[in-house]
Amino acid sequence: MREKFIIAIDGPSGAGKSTASKLLSKRLGYIYVDTGALYRAIAWKVKEKNIDIKNEAMLNNMCEATDIKIKLVDGEQKVYVDGADVSNFIRTPEIGMISSSVSSVPCVRKRLLELQRYFGKDGGAVIEGRDIGTVVFPDAEAKFFLSASVEERGRRRYIELKGKGHDVNLEDTTEDIKKRDYNDSKRNIAPLCAADDAIVIDSTGLDAEGVVKKMLNEIVKRQDELKGFKDSSDQGVKAGCSMLFFI
Ligand code: C5P
Repeated sequence: MREKFIIAIDGPSGAGKSTASKLLSKRLGYIYVDTGALYRAIAWKVKEKNIDIKNEAMLNNMCEATDIKIKLVDGEQKVYVDGADVSNFIRTPEIGMISSSVSSVPCVRKRLLELQRYFGKDGGAVIEGRDIGTVVFPDAEAKFFLSASVEERGRRRYIELKGKGHDVNLEDTTEDIKKRDYNDSKRNIAPLCAADDAIVIDSTGLDAEGVVKKMLNEIVKRQDELKGFKDSSDQGVKAGCSMLFFI
């Protein structure tokens, strides 16, 4: 176990991962990484450059030639593509659907896998996505799979998009979520699913505080386990020393 944990938070769209992850990262003093934003960044460029995503060679060239950076500004993640801040352009329903399509293409996942592992290399990170506990950091110290009923998730996403000024309706937003759930969980590589050792939290009827409370309880247990493990190895050293002393 790393002293500063990697905390993987996976789950479908609208399950409340971002709000819970941001809150949790603040409580722990950890960095926060929203990996969906990376897929959205690729989707944004695909749209800008009019790339045919069925043309894998073209998509691969585009991915290799794309510089993606993230920065935390006042607890919010900003995303830069080739130096330009695209944070405000990647949150549309259209980019959401394109990102779900490009995310099933192997060269895209390969490119973003390296990047995500780089962000988490020092530990001390809350990382949210679809495959963090299964593929990106299978050795994460704590893994959560956050879910909620599709109606609840559609309603949350609708309120979020409306709040940002998007012209959306509840029915279409819920349909988009169902389509993305289907694409994300049925794809061949790194499909959306809970890791065997993930703790599943149903956030239906729970607010972000309630979700984070459950997560923190589990993380504290893991930290105690780590401390217990370290204490017993310290005792081992001491026991060894005192034996030497006796002799
Ligand atoms: O989380 P968000 O809704 O922003 O993610 C956009 C899309 O990116 C998802 O629907 C999914 O297809 C893809 N994604 C992924 N793996 C991740 C994060 C996001 O495939 N770790």
